[in-house]
Amino acid sequence: MNNLFRNLTAALVALAVTTPLHAQETARIAAPTDDTMRLTLLGTGSPALRIERFGFANLVQAGGLNLLFDAGRGATMRLGQMGLPIGAIDATFLTHFHSDHTNGLPDVYLSGYVPLPLGGRQDEFQLYGPEGVQQLAEGLMLAYASDVVERGGAKIPEAATKIAAHVVDEGVVFEKNGVKVEAFRVFHHKFSTETFGYRVSYGNHSVVISGDASHSESVASYGKDADIIVHEVAAVSQVAADKPFFKVVMSGHTSPEEAARIFTAAQPKLAIFSHVVQLPGGHVGPSTDEILTRTRAGYDGEVIIGEDLMSFVISDDGIERDVID
Ligand SMILES: [Zn+2]
Ligand SMILES: [Zn+2]
Repeated sequence: MNNLFRNLTAALVALAVTTPLHAQETARIAAPTDDTMRLTLLGTGSPALRIERFGFANLVQAGGLNLLFDAGRGATMRLGQMGLPIGAIDATFLTHFHSDHTNGLPDVYLSGYVPLPLGGRQDEFQLYGPEGVQQLAEGLMLAYASDVVERGGAKIPEAATKIAAHVVDEGVVFEKNGVKVEAFRVFHHKFSTETFGYRVSYGNHSVVISGDASHSESVASYGKDADIIVHEVAAVSQVAADKPFFKVVMSGHTSPEEAARIFTAAQPKLAIFSHVVQLPGGHVGPSTDEILTRTRAGYDGEVIIGEDLMSFVISDDGIERDVID
């Protein structure tokens, strides 16, 4: 490396580390600072390996904040497609600890403290989740302790390498810049420890995320009159419905018919299916068209199948759809 290049690199790193992240306008889709909310589906998949459906993750942007809800496989890749530095995430909320909701988490944490344009976080990684989130945070910091040492030359602030873990309980768990996040318990399945859904409110608007839920009434009550409910769905074909394994899987999730009952009770402006489980197997099973048809048989409001990088801007004028490419 010649001296000129070395000096230039050092100057760029220094600039990236000292300039506040939100002032740099590096994000192609930055968090709105007006009275709108933006929801982007980063990953709409299940544990199945599908290149078109990454692991479950959702970005809610409002009040100048970037809030991440679950961090399934590939969450950082989708944030990159949005042009958002990973360090711009202000807080991450976990619904539960199943790996399909957390296996992208180390990447969000670690890439966040690398200097811009990749990361740029200057302070602690803020992580919210059920009881046990402290152990997850401590385990991650221990597992990746050598990364901090090996990147020492990049002048990463020590605080940025730490995780601040916050245990959530039912009720308001986060409030900043007029954005409120409420957690509510959902029933996932009999083997689960605590599992939460989240309601994010800003002004008159709200987005509700079910997380993994087995047709929980709490989603209907917290989702009452929400602008958008992002709800998981699982469907199994008739021929496979009696197989014991699929019965166990279905007992932890919400069928299209059960989702229709929840949407009917909640009456959101828009219902979006995500965490789409099509059994049997990853690719074969009821089609998304069949899932919608079965839902619409019991629900006459607007319901769609979410796709990765679908984005929705919520304002007093309604919900405007966008696709990030
Ligand atoms: Zn789960
Ligand atoms: Zn899941």
